[in-house]
Amino acid sequence: MRSVLTGTGAARGMALGRARLEHPSRYLVDDSPLAEHEIEDELERLRRAIALARDELRTLREKLHGSLEREVAEFIDAHSLMLADRELTNGLFELIRVGRYRASAALKTQRDRLVAVFEAMDDPYLRSRKEDVEHVLGRVQASLARESSVEERRLAARVGEILVSDTVAPSELVPLAERGVLGVVLSSGSQVSHSAILARSLHLPMIVAAHDALSHIQDDDLILIDGEHGEIVVHPTAQDLARLRAWQRETSQKSKRLALLRNAETRTKDGVAISLHANAESPADVAQARVLGASGVGLYRTEFLFLQRKEIPSEDEQFLAYRDLVLGMGGLPVTIRTLDLGADKADASGLVMDDEENPALGVRGVRLSLRHPQLLVSQLRAILRASGYGPIRVLVPMVSTVEEVLSVRALLQECARDLRTAGYEIADHTELGAMIEVPAAAIALGGMIQSLDFVSIGTNDLVQYTLAVDRNNDHLAHLYDPLHPAVLKLLAQTIATARRAKRRVMLCGEMAGDRRYTALLLALGLTDFSMHPGLLLEVRETINALDRERLRAHAPALLRASTRARIEGVLERLSSDD
Ligand code: PEP
Ligand code: MG
Repeated sequence: MRSVLTGTGAARGMALGRARLEHPSRYLVDDSPLAEHEIEDELERLRRAIALARDELRTLREKLHGSLEREVAEFIDAHSLMLADRELTNGLFELIRVGRYRASAALKTQRDRLVAVFEAMDDPYLRSRKEDVEHVLGRVQASLARESSVEERRLAARVGEILVSDTVAPSELVPLAERGVLGVVLSSGSQVSHSAILARSLHLPMIVAAHDALSHIQDDDLILIDGEHGEIVVHPTAQDLARLRAWQRETSQKSKRLALLRNAETRTKDGVAISLHANAESPADVAQARVLGASGVGLYRTEFLFLQRKEIPSEDEQFLAYRDLVLGMGGLPVTIRTLDLGADKADASGLVMDDEENPALGVRGVRLSLRHPQLLVSQLRAILRASGYGPIRVLVPMVSTVEEVLSVRALLQECARDLRTAGYEIADHTELGAMIEVPAAAIALGGMIQSLDFVSIGTNDLVQYTLAVDRNNDHLAHLYDPLHPAVLKLLAQTIATARRAKRRVMLCGEMAGDRRYTALLLALGLTDFSMHPGLLLEVRETINALDRERLRAHAPALLRASTRARIEGVLERLSSDD
């Protein structure tokens, strides 16, 4: 019964819940033909599964109340009718009796046939009915495969749901979290996808690249997920639940230990002050950042504001969001990044081009903003208006040329002039910085740095573009390597170029919050980190135990190392020295 599936941990935390399969793209199907003597049993299994699916629909209908009752009830009734439809069920029984299909294979075959019929219809309404077929047959399929014990069903009734799907868009995650989903398991995806970043921000445990999830987990199975280690236990035992309780105890002990570091200084053993900023996506992140003593907000991804809704937020709406962010940080600096839509951050407002062959290399970030100057202007105006309430810096994503920086700066100055003329009180000077996440910007930073007030290294994309490895493609996860010698060279070069020009250099990619890389980044000369606030205290704890001078002395060895293994060797020596 109990089985363990693995994936990649993408957002920490454990959750126990009932699996809720969404858009399962595959059915678990046994294709081997039935033997003569198995036919009757198989027919009986299918009858029981259909009856169970009907019962479930009836229970669902009884539970309906509120404004959606009528609308939803119509769907449920239609589905119940389909299950009672002789044509449909006889077709299934026929496949078992005559074709010697197993019940699951019969359901799949019937589904494929019916879907093909509906898809061929001209009428869009009728065409859309194929979804009903999928739902109804999917429900029977799930009933057929359900193997939960009475005890398990009792437990499952008391716990919430864990979404199991092939993918989930960043824009779908917020409503899911609001609906109370306890965790997410995806059969594809990666740790540095925007969905994963958002899940961390929402404190929603997430596992990605769990390739077997959809074929092994059934709707309603009780599952226990561990978002740190990427482990899914299907039908957990008492021992597994004891592990969950142990984790809960450990987490509370760890947070008590780390709580002592709230508002503590971040300073290496040899006395160098390090700034830890927060990547804040929500008001909860902002509150957490303040409580934990962040030096400011190092990255506010404005696209999340756009992804949660259908229309483009107006200048006023944006202003209110940015103003609240600045006020929430109580005078600490806030870095607001202009829109980085495109690639996997497609919006519902239709700005993002959907016919690009290679969206990661397409109209994304500043390229999209400069194609829609009105949009950029309204965003810059909103940011500048909020600058009257506290220190704000503007950060531009996906920069690859100095001309892009100059264009944004010209618009920023024009907006500032217009606002002042119109009587708004805005900051005297608003710093403008660039994300260094395209290798060209890192390599040619020397020629760009004088046009910038600061830079912020986006390792999530810098690794993807340097190594030509799609950050969202789980099949390439082994190649997506922040410890590649080429990445290290670009990091060291970027930090050194910015420091020579006396410009602040921050790192706001996921590497900054991963304590495995803290010593490395200090060795390369980084002093400004920006990470999800939930990681701030453990990075502070790590930094406070390190000697920066000694780490700096190892930088040449790190940069000389020609392979990942050698780099790891140097890093190991670094940690064993302590
Ligand atoms: C990055 O690329 O490292 C980054 C911080 O930006 P995003 O993850 O939003 O692309
Ligand atoms: Mg990026």
